[in-house]
Order: sequence, then structure tokens, then C-alpha cells
Amino acid sequence: MDSQAISLVRSSFKSIVAEEGGPERLARTFYSLLFARSPETREFFPAAMDVQRDRLFTAIAYVVERLDETDEILEYLAQLGRDHRKYGVTDEHYQAVGNSMIEAFELFGGAEMWTDEVDSAWRNALAVISAAMMDAANAEDGPPAWSATVIETRTAIRGVAIVRLQLDQPMDYRPGQYVSVQVGARPRMWRYLSPANPPDGSGIIEFHIRQVTGGWVSPAMVTQTTVGDIWVIGSPIGGLGIPENTKDLLMIASGTGVAPLRAQILELIRRGNTRKVHLFYSGAHPCDLYDLPHLWALAERHPWLTIVPVSEDDTNPWWHTETEPLSPIGMPKRMTGKVGKVVTSFGNWAGCDIQVVGNESVVNSTKFRLRAVGIDAATVRSDPTY
Ligand SMILES: Cc1cc2nc3c(=O)[nH]c(=O)nc-3n(C[C@H](O)[C@H](O)[C@H](O)COP(=O)(O)OP(=O)(O)OC[C@H]3O[C@@H](n4cnc5c(N)ncnc54)[C@H](O)[C@@H]3O)c2cc1C
Repeated sequence: MDSQAISLVRSSFKSIVAEEGGPERLARTFYSLLFARSPETREFFPAAMDVQRDRLFTAIAYVVERLDETDEILEYLAQLGRDHRKYGVTDEHYQAVGNSMIEAFELFGGAEMWTDEVDSAWRNALAVISAAMMDAANAEDGPPAWSATVIETRTAIRGVAIVRLQLDQPMDYRPGQYVSVQVGARPRMWRYLSPANPPDGSGIIEFHIRQVTGGWVSPAMVTQTTVGDIWVIGSPIGGLGIPENTKDLLMIASGTGVAPLRAQILELIRRGNTRKVHLFYSGAHPCDLYDLPHLWALAERHPWLTIVPVSEDDTNPWWHTETEPLSPIGMPKRMTGKVGKVVTSFGNWAGCDIQVVGNESVVNSTKFRLRAVGIDAATVRSDPTY
């Protein structure tokens, strides 16, 4: 796409986002048109569409923002296309989605905003997006989805479960990537989770799941999962992972965001790594750092690995009565504060490959702090947070 078309797509999308209730109304219009024109697509989606509408909008915003990062966005769309095979979507469905999207934009924008130039720029963008997704989906010969049996579930701390599953066939994901997951108790409500272990040929996959208060799916995953349950898992997605270069690695995690970084550390151990790896492992309270004993044990055996525990609050909530474990001799003690501030107090990390994983507020505030000490934002990697 040329820069003129990209800028038209961006500016028209921005004006929709700026309208009061714009994203919600646009998404409602889009889904109504899609389900009216292609009723069979309704069964791809859950009965309650509220979260789905948010997700659609966040996904469009993510792509629109990166339309000029050609290689990255094409790779992301290819991954998304491979993942969408789990729904059984066909090329006709992509066509129907594109048409309904254009119609929704047109209805929403009105003649003043939806000019011929804007129309043509969006048609062009949607054609690029659907071609990238369809081509990758059609070229893929792996399974559209994996069936996985729960073999172990345990509580790490209140509200966080560690669930291990046996896949029906090994999955070749890159440590650091994430997958979409559907549990029996919440049909058609796919949620992303990041494997906390690298693939090792055994087909065992581990997830660390935090129960989000008021959430549709995570409370069921955390409190209702039992051994023998069957989960369905889509194709791997995401740009995080061990970089090809030999730079030292700075990893910043908040809460269960440690999972994809832990998977990379385990893979680095398997590869006989020697480059330096600093993991800043943060949480709201000291007890949120549930994986510390395991990470410390790894750091004791591998001197290239440094773990810095960080919590925003110095004390635990009332319900956590266990004594806080002490840092092993010679290892950094837990620090208190926002993780971005703590990380930048150590230096500016120039020359490192940087990955940040966690909720939106932690990722954004940490990136802001890193930029403030002169780190080029383009060298800081993170996945979409939605
Ligand atoms: C790339 C990626 C990887 C992820 N990996 C993991 C993982 O390894 N482990 C894990 O536990 N979760 C992970 N998540 C989050 C997970 O996919 C779900 O979004 C989360 O479990 C909430 O789902 P839900 O159905 O319970 O809540 P929903 O029903 O989707 O949302 C209910 C409400 O809670 C809000 N909400 C959603 N998520 C959060 C949150 N994290 N914090 C605060 N409020 C929230 C929503 O905005 C909404 O208002 C990941 C998300 C992404 C995008």
C-alpha cells in the first residue's frame, strides 16, 4: 500500500475512534451486516458478543497502526490466518467480512468522511489483509487446532492456576508465542494464553492463568478445570521469542506475563546459552511473584541469568499469610516500585534486545520509561495487549 492510502486509512479510523461510542457502534453495525448477509458465520462467535466487539476493534487498531511495518504485519496476519483455520473459515468468509466491514464504515462515516479515496484506500487495505491471512491459511498443512487433555492443575497463589496439558500431537511453537484456547465450559469463547514451557517433542504444554474478576473465561479456567478436561488450542501467534542476533536480553514481565519469558529462558538453557539475560519479574504484591523459587533455582545453576524481583506494594494482601521467601545469597533482593522505573534505575540497557510482557498499563508505562532514558521504541518488543 502506498503512504497516501495508509494515511487515509489511519485518519478515517482515527475519526471513528474519536466519536463517542464510535468503536462499539461500528462493531455492532459490522456484525449485524455480517450475520444478516452470511448467517453461517454466526456460529463462529459466542452468544454474548460484547467482549468479541472489543476484540475486533483492538485487532483492527493494531493492524492499522502498523500498516507501514510491512514484514511484521504480514507475518502477524499470516499467523492470524493460520489460527483462524480453527473456525473452519473459507475464502468466501473473508470476502463476506471485507464487504460487511466496508459497508459498516460507509454507513458509519457518512458521505462527508467516506469519500471515494477513503473507500478505495480501505478496500485496498482489506484486500491486503485478507490475502495475507488466506494465503497463509491455505498454505498450511498442520492441524487447524489441537485437542489437549489436562494432566495437572494446581494453584500457584490465590487466583492463579498452573495447568499442564497433553496435546494430541506436538505443536511447533516458538518459545514466547501465544495460542488461542477454548475450554469446554465456555464454548466459542477463545482466549489467548502463552505457553510457559518451550516445545520439547513431548506434546506437554503449560499455562499460567490469572483469574480476572468479572471475566467470562479465566474464572472458569482457574476454578473449574480438572484433570481429564479437554481444551482446544489454535495455531501459535506472536512476535516475541529469542532473537536471531547475539544481543544480551532484557526481559520485563508482570504477573503471568512471566510465562512466555520463562519459556524462552528454558529454551536458552536447552541451547547451552551464554549471553546475559536479565529478567525483571514484577507484580502488584510480593506474593504475585509465584514463580520466583523456580527462577532462582535456574539462576543458581546458570550464572548468565539474573532475576530481579519487583513489586509495586511492599506488603501482601491479607489473605496471603505465607512468609516471603528470601533471595538466595548473592542474588538481587526484591525492589519496590513500578517496574519501568526500577528497570531504568539500573542503566539505559543500550544494545540489549528488550521484551515487555504484561497488561496494557504495565507495557505502556514501561515503554514510556525506556524511551525517557533514550531507548529506541523500535527495539522494545511486545505483543498486542487486549
Ligand atoms: C497475547 C496475549 C497473551 C495472553 N496470555 C495470557 C496468559 O498466559 N495467562 C493469562 O492469565 N492471561 C493471558 N492473556 C489474557 C487472556 O487472554 C484473557 O484476556 C484474560 O484471561 C481475561 O479473559 P476473561 O474471559 O476472563 O475476561 P473477559 O470476559 O475477556 O473480560 C472481562 C473484563 O475484564 C477486563 N480484562 C480482560 N483481561 C484483563 C486483564 N488481564 N486484567 C484486567 N482486566 C482485564 C476486560 O476489559 C473486560 O472488561 C493474554 C492475552 C493476550 C492478548
